[in-house]
Amino acid sequence: MDDDLYRQYILDHYRDPRNHGHLEAPDCHAAETNPLCGDRVELDLKLDGDRVAEVRFDGRGCAISQASASMLTERIEGATLEELRALRPADILEMLGVTIGPARQRCALLGLRVLHECVGGPYTGRYDEDMADDPAMEEPAADVK
Ligand code: ZN
Repeated sequence: MDDDLYRQYILDHYRDPRNHGHLEAPDCHAAETNPLCGDRVELDLKLDGDRVAEVRFDGRGCAISQASASMLTERIEGATLEELRALRPADILEMLGVTIGPARQRCALLGLRVLHECVGGPYTGRYDEDMADDPAMEEPAADVK
């Protein structure tokens, strides 16, 4: 797909988010806000053993943050907790398919951050040793200062 098609795909997820809403009595719930542009993502997971049986998200904010969360929910249905913890920022950026500058990467990665908070994964929105494949993520967002 070229960039235009990816942009259409992002807008489609933004306008018609998949797995939108909440679950009753989720096995885990997490929510985070991206202070840079006020995006918010909440995530509910219901597990069957160590697999995702159901997932819902709710939130508000820019198209990239909401579309990324929507795509992420589709991707993780049926995944194991181990697979969720193994997801990396690079996987999310690849899933979105367009080049995203450092400031907007916070938006794109908010869903992953919430997911990892939910399941005890390593991504906290900050670079650390566990994310050694991902140093570029932590370049300062000079364009928003
Ligand atoms: Zn945003």
